Amino acid sequence: MARVGCQLGHVPRTSGRTGTAGCCGETEQEYVKRLFDTLEPKLRTSGHTPLKILADPSSYPAMDAFFAFHCDGSKDHSARGCSFGFDDRLSSAAASKKFGDRWRAEHNAAGYPGGNQRTNYTIDINHYYALDDALAAGAGRGICIEFGFLTNPDDNDWLIDNVGRVADALVRTVVAFFGGTPPEEDLSIVDHETKQYFDNQFKDVDNAFSTVLRGDESDHRTHPGNLQNILDAIETLQGDIKQIKQKLGIPG
Ligand SMILES: [Zn+2]
Repeated sequence: MARVGCQLGHVPRTSGRTGTAGCCGETEQEYVKRLFDTLEPKLRTSGHTPLKILADPSSYPAMDAFFAFHCDGSKDHSARGCSFGFDDRLSSAAASKKFGDRWRAEHNAAGYPGGNQRTNYTIDINHYYALDDALAAGAGRGICIEFGFLTNPDDNDWLIDNVGRVADALVRTVVAFFGGTPPEEDLSIVDHETKQYFDNQFKDVDNAFSTVLRGDESDHRTHPGNLQNILDAIETLQGDIKQIKQKLGIPG
């Protein structure tokens, strides 16, 4: 199984090139750290070994594959799109490009909504400083990833809300080339906040039902008021159903 080097872009620099501050939430450094923490157990479950690498390590650990994690930033807040870089001067260029193409496809399939910037669209990701170090450490496939623009509000919201999906796309990429178990499909269809709201609503209904079934704590008899709680909860849920239909574009 593969040893997968994951470089946390700019971490923990406090001067020089420290990464984008984003527009509304996490900075690039905070995001790539959280992404690694999310990815680490997933990669282990799939059968591989994650290796955390900071931006300026004294040396690079022996590895089979390499990702550098970055998010883009731009003064133009409408700029968005994901991209990756591979170094076309290295002997690993063709293998790395395939690795990156697969990652891009997985990232898009995971639902990333920002579209694509072209591969190697800046010299910084094309000639990313760690790609030759990673190759020297054994990584036959190595890319520098830009997951999207933290300065674009829509990219930002999606990346921050869907860090699990971003991590799954990385695991799928590794599994495609090195084998192992792919992560289970995330079949959730509403955003995290909405899911939490409905979970709470359903919990209320569940409580109301169990109160009726159990009866009152003291005399174990069900009171008409408990039944009314259920009817109220059902009425609230009927209102919720209208909302969720709108949200998912289901007519009626
Ligand atoms: Zn960066």
